Amino acid sequence: MAEELDWSNIGFGYRKTDYNVRCYYRDGKWGEIEVNSEETINIHMAATALHYGQEAFEGLKAYKCKDGKIRIFRPDANAERLQSTCRGILMPELPTEKFIDMVKKVVSMNERFIPPYGTGASLYIRPVMFGTGAQVGVRPAGEYVIIMFVTPVGPYFKGGFAATPYVVTRKFDRSAPLGTGIYKVGGNYAASLQANNWAHEQGYSCEFYLDAKEKKYIDEAGAANFFGIKHGVYVTPKSTSILPSITNRSLMQIAEDMGIKVERRQIAIEELEDMEEAGACGTAAVISPISRIDDPEVGKSYVIAKDGKPGPISEKLYNAIRAIQLGEAEDKHGWVLTL
Ligand SMILES: *Cc1c(COP(=O)(O)O)cnc(C)c1O
Repeated sequence: MAEELDWSNIGFGYRKTDYNVRCYYRDGKWGEIEVNSEETINIHMAATALHYGQEAFEGLKAYKCKDGKIRIFRPDANAERLQSTCRGILMPELPTEKFIDMVKKVVSMNERFIPPYGTGASLYIRPVMFGTGAQVGVRPAGEYVIIMFVTPVGPYFKGGFAATPYVVTRKFDRSAPLGTGIYKVGGNYAASLQANNWAHEQGYSCEFYLDAKEKKYIDEAGAANFFGIKHGVYVTPKSTSILPSITNRSLMQIAEDMGIKVERRQIAIEELEDMEEAGACGTAAVISPISRIDDPEVGKSYVIAKDGKPGPISEKLYNAIRAIQLGEAEDKHGWVLTL
């Protein structure tokens, strides 16, 4: 039973829940939302997802809150990003309303798996869409499915909010300047596995990418966007090869609301020397503070948190976004969907 899970120690992995929801695209239109309790799918062996990577995913979270309500953070933004990804790899767009109906349904049907308030754990929602139709030549499928499943995930920081080291990878690129880096497609992750493995083997939290063309500007950190605090300004990369993070977009807004200046621009790697704070941001950790970024291939190391602790602005931003997600601060931008 879900009630018996040790919520604070469940980690970030797949756990079976009661239901998933599915919607099929056939004959040029999306069908009705179907509820399923199977964990497997039966698709054609020539499906475009399997051969040509016509696949996209999303990730968002639902929280059980102090007032007993369930809150989901910015599902409309995930729906819009998925639509952008669909345009990018020629899949049919799923309307926002249908996306949100699916999210509501999969969360409410698996309510007993939503970690209780105060455990730091949450319910991770994973939408995945792909071409199921058969093709042998390289072209988009005629049929698609979107599936949403959920899995309870533990708190990202077991020992509390802490800063960790990252490593620049110059041997591997995740995405090209005019490639698919701006879309949330599985192919980008296949391209990142070697670099990710290399970083982990050396004890780093994650690999850190520079722009693929000039190897000069900061792109992002594995599966999270980068932000730094430079002379009190929130700086974050502008690049055609990074994923538009909803967490980053929200942090930029919150920073502005707090009177912190925000700059979205190209950031040369050397600028790390003048940063008081830095972090990686994304749905999984919200903010993962960066203590140090090593660039071993050129023999450089940028120490950001000298005491190894997260900086005050990162901490303030982290607390502010968490409070909105949990319904404990005013949601003045209308970000939260409450069930
Ligand atoms: C999902 C993802 C992020 C984070 O996006 P959020 O919407 O904040 O979760 C950042 N970078 C990459 C490459 C991603 O796939």
